Amino acid sequence: MYMGHYAIALGARRWLRPLPMAWLLFASIEPDLHDVLGDLIPALSIGPDTHTVAGAIGAAIVVALLAAVLFRQAALAVGSGLLVLSHVAVDYLTSRLPLWRHGPVVGLHLYAVPWADFVLEALAIAIGVSIYATSPDLRRPARAGLLGMALLMLCMQAVWNFGFGSH
Ligand SMILES: [Zn+2]
Repeated sequence: MYMGHYAIALGARRWLRPLPMAWLLFASIEPDLHDVLGDLIPALSIGPDTHTVAGAIGAAIVVALLAAVLFRQAALAVGSGLLVLSHVAVDYLTSRLPLWRHGPVVGLHLYAVPWADFVLEALAIAIGVSIYATSPDLRRPARAGLLGMALLMLCMQAVWNFGFGSH
């Protein structure tokens, strides 16, 4: 999944408001950042495990512990961990991923049907931004900007699905 991850982070903020937005975004794409790290430093040998079930659970626990130390609230720690798990869960819809290292590869692989992936991610954006919009702490200017943000996310998703033909 692509923009859908960010939409999930936005929606989750409704319940995790004390967390900085940057932290929510980080937790929601942690497994992909882990991939980048694995590519940069192959010696770490973490590439094959970032999106496996065990890898996701391990990363969720580490992020939850980090959140517990940084933000000192159990609910925020659990929420952070769940965001990491959500990443891999929805990636199984859009990709095909190994359940464990060298294990069976499963997933719906909606990326292979770009319009279907676009519909799913557009739905995630609509739901995530709608939930975000109900946050009681948002001021009017922030609410007004949400439609623009949702449209920007849709455009980026469209480019991902239909643009440049490179994937
Ligand atoms: Zn991913």
